[in-house]
Amino acid sequence: MNAVHDKDDLLREAADRFGTPLFVYFLDDIAARAQQIKEGFGGRFALSYAVKSNPNPHLLEWLSSRIEFLDISSHGEFLLGSRGGWQANRMSFTGPGKRAFEVEDTLSKGLGELILESPREAALANEVAGKIGRKQDVLVRLAPAVVPKGFGDNMAGRPCAFGIDVEDVERDLPPILALPNLNVVGFHIYSGTQCLRADAIRQNYQIFMETFATVCEAHDVTPEKLTFGSGLGIPYHDSDKPLEFDKVTSGVNEDLDAFKARPRFRSSTLILELGRYLVGEAGFFATRVVSTKHSRGADIAICDGGMNNHLPASGNFGMVVPRNYSMHRVGGGESKAPVNLVGPLCTSIDRLGRGVELPRLDEGDLVAVHNSGAYGPSASPLHFISHPMPREVIVSGGVMKDVTRKLSDLSPLGV
Ligand SMILES: *Cc1c(COP(=O)(O)O)cnc(C)c1O
Repeated sequence: MNAVHDKDDLLREAADRFGTPLFVYFLDDIAARAQQIKEGFGGRFALSYAVKSNPNPHLLEWLSSRIEFLDISSHGEFLLGSRGGWQANRMSFTGPGKRAFEVEDTLSKGLGELILESPREAALANEVAGKIGRKQDVLVRLAPAVVPKGFGDNMAGRPCAFGIDVEDVERDLPPILALPNLNVVGFHIYSGTQCLRADAIRQNYQIFMETFATVCEAHDVTPEKLTFGSGLGIPYHDSDKPLEFDKVTSGVNEDLDAFKARPRFRSSTLILELGRYLVGEAGFFATRVVSTKHSRGADIAICDGGMNNHLPASGNFGMVVPRNYSMHRVGGGESKAPVNLVGPLCTSIDRLGRGVELPRLDEGDLVAVHNSGAYGPSASPLHFISHPMPREVIVSGGVMKDVTRKLSDLSPLGV
């Protein structure tokens, strides 16, 4: 058995005990990844976990003693983080469409930093902070004009909803700095993600640092915090070459040291904000074959979970070219042949793989889809066609725990 199968016994046990379809998250792998990141950057970065990548409250709770900060993107995620034992002052709040009730409740509960995405939001936050008699720490999110090639998704470098475009900083920043109830403690950039190229990541962080430096000099800000949206990608598909992390750190560490040598940034805390690189590869989606069909020359395996549980694996989550996630038949097997893997939904877009080379699949067989620790259930249309919620299980030191969310848990407001 090779490395692909080294978790098969645990995956099979979890499937038998808790039922399928299910997501299994291996916490020891996340711990190892966190350590790799911290050590790789030699402590230059504090880590901030983007809740939206996997908001399972048990995972959040487990992360609270391992990661410095939590980045939330909604009031609901604020409540999930709070339930996971995170104090409000360790949370930052991003998102381009924050509503008044979200700002009011998070600020009054002591939110660490509001990440301002627009002048409108600055005015709103200033008003709310004034009402509750608080001076609120904020970071201003900046949208660079350029994102290097090599990122799977870009949040800047073109017209976009996120942050203040660098071209507009001169106009928009001074009024924000002048607001009496806000304390601009630094800046935030998250401009691209899912990058597997070390050189592009280094180049992007160079753009961040130049942008931070230019803006801080021009407006005489000595930042306490600067947040770098990581962009670190994971190899979703068999043909993807994993990111050479050592290459990232060797280049970036040199740049960070030069940056930190400038008096203005000497005491700035640098934060790496990330989701998928921390938790993605530690998760598997296990689904059981319900039925098989040979149709007009193609073998089809129909599984008990599909795009309703795992939209990204079905290729419907904004991929430029949908490609099969890496996956394997639990237990292995001889003589691989191409098979189309589909879910249980009555729509032809519900597929988990097309022409996947797998050992022959029969009713009852288990398939494990890799890279499923981030953007799984919470990124999927769980309500569509009213199947049960997928199970979620965490495994740590070989011990399993069912952490399945109820459908009603998904909305922390209970509505
Ligand atoms: C989604 C998001 C992240 C995490 O992105 P990954 O690609 O999962 O690392 C970080 N920061 C912000 C502001 C985000 O919206």
